[in-house]
Amino acid sequence: MDRDQILLTPGPLTTTLRTKKAMLKDWGSWDADFNKITAKIRTQLLDIIEGHEEYVVVPMQGSGTFSVEASINSVLPRDGHLLVLDNGAYCKRMATLTQKMGRQATTLSFNEKEPVSPEALKKALIEDKTITHVGLIHCETGAGVLNPLKEISDICKEFNVGLIVDAMSSFGALPISVKDIQFDALISASGKCLESVPGMGFIFLRKAIVESMQGNSQSLSLDLYDQYHYMEKTGQWRFTPPTHIVAALSEALDQFVEEGGQTARLARYTDNCETLVEGLSQIGLEPFLDKENITPIIVTFLAPKYDQYDFKAFYNAVKEEGFILYPGKLTEIDTFRVGCIGAINHKEMRQVVASMKYVLENMMTIQEN
Ligand SMILES: *Cc1c(COP(=O)(O)O)cnc(C)c1O
Repeated sequence: MDRDQILLTPGPLTTTLRTKKAMLKDWGSWDADFNKITAKIRTQLLDIIEGHEEYVVVPMQGSGTFSVEASINSVLPRDGHLLVLDNGAYCKRMATLTQKMGRQATTLSFNEKEPVSPEALKKALIEDKTITHVGLIHCETGAGVLNPLKEISDICKEFNVGLIVDAMSSFGALPISVKDIQFDALISASGKCLESVPGMGFIFLRKAIVESMQGNSQSLSLDLYDQYHYMEKTGQWRFTPPTHIVAALSEALDQFVEEGGQTARLARYTDNCETLVEGLSQIGLEPFLDKENITPIIVTFLAPKYDQYDFKAFYNAVKEEGFILYPGKLTEIDTFRVGCIGAINHKEMRQVVASMKYVLENMMTIQEN
């Protein structure tokens, strides 16, 4: 059937027809009409963090990682030292890309089942005075753990070190306001909780640090300082913008506002998450995390304990039913993940639960025969 599959993946995710339709028009990248869209999305993004006074936002071409890399590369001085609070795969990626950029990166490791510890950060900052910045993943999409952004931000302020936050999978769904949280850079992307298509990221930068970024970048295209100043001066992107993606994000942001903003989105995702966890528990599938650590962004489930179970086969059978799942990202344990985000609600969640039940029952029947 010519019908889109439901993506239960944390980006790309299921988008509305209205968002998709916004991509049916061609735009000239120098044209005033397109520049207006860029200006509009920048305003709407700053609205979300209540950041118009103290922050700017810089859009960047590419997937989310490009924006993380651009942030590290532009915000961290070449002799800077980043401490990454590590409880999963995305944290490790941040440390790796920092080192690739020729900067010093150290990881402070935690159990991937639990949030990182503010107390441990404090201790590390007391012990090592060479640390200039802290790297935090807000929601570690690997296992789905939410990290304590506010507490970490307060400690960074107290110790006068910079904070770089990868809020890729949380921004738009979880509350982030600069009225109570300070950071140097916070990164997200178009294809996550704003429910648009993937292809661009955006970085909130504290105005007070922007000028200090000059000359930090070792990359031409990932230089946020240049991207920012060029955009301020001309209203244009420095290199070819992803025009259709910008147009889609603009339409998605309008729908975000119409739905009721971050609180409404969180309420819908929470409903999705509860429907999913409850439904799957009834067919014997349990989350990897303890209940209190589950975030309504993505849920990691332990693989079913049948000899017959194999993720690939399970994935393909559920795909036949119209749903795209996500593999686990844990090294030690066999898991799979289900995203709660995207233009879906509890109805799709009830349907996917029913589909998984059907698929697993079939697998068991085959096993018994
Ligand atoms: C999605 C995501 C990213 C970016 O991944 P890309 O594949 O580069 O888009 C980075 N960090 C986190 C926490 C994410 O969830």
